[in-house]
Amino acid sequence: MPSPNRLNFSPGPGALPQEVLAQASEAIIQAPGTNQSVLGISHRTDWFKNIVSELEAGFRSLLSIPPDYHVLFLQGGSSLQFSMVPMLLLRGTGLTAEYLRTGYWSSKSIPDARLEGEVEVLYDGESSHFNRLPGQDELLHDPSAAYFHYISNETVEGLQFHTLPGLDTVARVCDMSSDFMTAPLDVRNYSLIYAHAQKNLGPSGVTIVILKAGLLTKAPDRIPSMLDYRNHVEMGSIYNTPPVFAIYVTLLVARWLKDSVGGLEKMAAINARKALALYGIMDRHPSFFRLHAADKKDRSLMNLAFHLPTPALEQAFLEQSAAAGFYGLEGHRSLGGLRASLYNSVTEEDVNELLEFMDDFRTRHA
Ligand SMILES: *Cc1c(COP(=O)(O)O)cnc(C)c1O
Repeated sequence: MPSPNRLNFSPGPGALPQEVLAQASEAIIQAPGTNQSVLGISHRTDWFKNIVSELEAGFRSLLSIPPDYHVLFLQGGSSLQFSMVPMLLLRGTGLTAEYLRTGYWSSKSIPDARLEGEVEVLYDGESSHFNRLPGQDELLHDPSAAYFHYISNETVEGLQFHTLPGLDTVARVCDMSSDFMTAPLDVRNYSLIYAHAQKNLGPSGVTIVILKAGLLTKAPDRIPSMLDYRNHVEMGSIYNTPPVFAIYVTLLVARWLKDSVGGLEKMAAINARKALALYGIMDRHPSFFRLHAADKKDRSLMNLAFHLPTPALEQAFLEQSAAAGFYGLEGHRSLGGLRASLYNSVTEEDVNELLEFMDDFRTRHA
């Protein structure tokens, strides 16, 4: 067995940096600057208010978030944003919201939007088993749409947009759950971005929302208070009891990104090296490692979904990799096969060990 918290290729909740786990475990006994466990501190203390402010400031600096955008820390996961977004931006407008259906998670986002108004699915990848992303020339946008929603990285299928879809004149809304803070990003291109913490940023329990302040001026009536972004803005993300521990650990990860990694440019370079190494071995042996993504241009740097020539080989791969200490390599239940997730906290050393295992497995079974 390797030392704990290594070789974690889980799709989420995923790996966290070793130093963050050490700090989090100390804070469970005594949070720095207090005489209490982080699990027993009131969310109304100055201590916790400072944690939230430092986290917001950290994100603002890492991503250069402009001042006319709010940064919120909410609950309900990314799945609740599937409802909160159309409640704010679609309900009562009489307009149509445009969605892309590019995989498992975007398929989940559409039914909740339909509860609030008209939805036009501009691209539906179901007939090609969600193995590619549309090009901008395939998307017939309506310039008067209420907003345009897409998922930047389809976590299950391993597809990632490397260009920006949508029109600059229509509010662009993006679910970045599985690639947020993995590379620099121009927030100005978006009206609203959401991403839960548990893939690249921390434990589950907190969801980050970045939204343009102007969106809130035309909010419709009769939104339940917890689902109304305005209440969370007004209370600085402490509207009701927030997930104190998840927010604290997310701050530890933000500090790690800034101080230990050195920022998002550096993080992006590391992430690209990890993914290119794995794609390299797959491209050398494409009949053995069969990627789900059909086109190179759509390949995800975060999740690599693939099959082996037979289900028996996949089973053997899972059993032998687990025995060697690898964790989380099983494909999503909707797709089967295998998947390696290379989130921020997965180290290059871990990826190199996986490469060696894959090479050895192929030599023994090809
Ligand atoms: C994992 C995932 C979700 C689901 O998030 P929850 O926090 O479990 O609701 C939504 N969107 C994407 C892109 C995901 O990868």
